[in-house]
Amino acid sequence: MLERYGFNVAFVHRADLQSALARSFGQKLLHLGCEVRAFVQGRDAVEVTLGDGSARSADLLVGADGLRSAVRRQLLGDGDPLYLGSTVWRGLAPGEGIDLPIGDGVNWVGHGSEFVAFHLAGGQIYWAAVTKEEHGAKPGSEGTKHDVLERFFTWAEPVPALIRATEEAAILRNDMYDRRPSIRWSHGRVTLVGDAAHPMTPNQGQGACQALEDGIALGESLAQTASITLALELYERRRLGRANRMVRISRQATRGVQIDNPVLCAIRDRVLSLIPRPMILATQDATMRADR
Ligand SMILES: Cc1cc2nc3c(=O)[nH]c(=O)nc-3n(C[C@H](O)[C@H](O)[C@H](O)COP(=O)(O)OP(=O)(O)OC[C@H]3O[C@@H](n4cnc5c(N)ncnc54)[C@H](O)[C@@H]3O)c2cc1C
Repeated sequence: MLERYGFNVAFVHRADLQSALARSFGQKLLHLGCEVRAFVQGRDAVEVTLGDGSARSADLLVGADGLRSAVRRQLLGDGDPLYLGSTVWRGLAPGEGIDLPIGDGVNWVGHGSEFVAFHLAGGQIYWAAVTKEEHGAKPGSEGTKHDVLERFFTWAEPVPALIRATEEAAILRNDMYDRRPSIRWSHGRVTLVGDAAHPMTPNQGQGACQALEDGIALGESLAQTASITLALELYERRRLGRANRMVRISRQATRGVQIDNPVLCAIRDRVLSLIPRPMILATQDATMRADR
């Protein structure tokens, strides 16, 4: 990885990344707890109405409000995200006594399910488990840890050991969604970034990475011209193709994991094992190399 791209895979806990970004931006300009309800575009500004009824005016509104973005709802009005048929459990376990190699992480794929684990800084191990579930299914009476263990207790170690070593409170459960790729994210002085623009399934580990690439491309586009509308056109030209490609690749990966017929699973695993290394590297190149 280092030799090919000049950098290694970095596994960072989202809270650490968020703190680092907030520290570097500065607390003074950061106003938390402000729910965006609606916006109105004028010729020279955009006015945003907040949850407490107050209004703010700005040159530009960037909707970075995630999967169920209120800004997207008003801007594109393209309905709810699509449930893909799988649920993800994720947890943080203490690394002591767990036999997991330090390095690029491990990904086990089973019948309609998957388990991923890797070391984080500070001696903890992050894991994520995917299974096919009904939309909106709630935890059973014995709790989330029991539910996930029930589905993975027959898997090879350290999968069950990792789940057992995780506190109930350190396990999160989310249904998996994405959206059909959109052909635009901007109108006038309003645009979208991250999951608001291009939510994708977590199978490629690219959602937050693509959000960061959006931020860089948007900043560079705004620095290139004084016209907001032109800058947003530049931003879309740089980002739509790549981000939408990731949405499609992630969905294909999800569909591959969802195969649960044993014969089809055997075929899938055999085909994957036969893919020539240059082809695997070419796919990886497309993910790792941002178009700049
Ligand atoms: C299980 C799982 C594993 C993942 N693993 C990876 C991974 O390994 N690598 C990776 O790159 N990505 C991963 N992702 C994807 C990643 O989490 C998302 O792509 C990323 O969080 C998107 O960032 P965002 O800022 O666009 O949206 P969010 O992180 O969803 O942030 C949106 C913010 O907007 C706020 N908000 C919502 N509505 C409003 C409103 N009306 N007004 C004001 N604020 C509002 C929310 O409170 C939230 O703080 C994973 C996702 C899941 C579910």
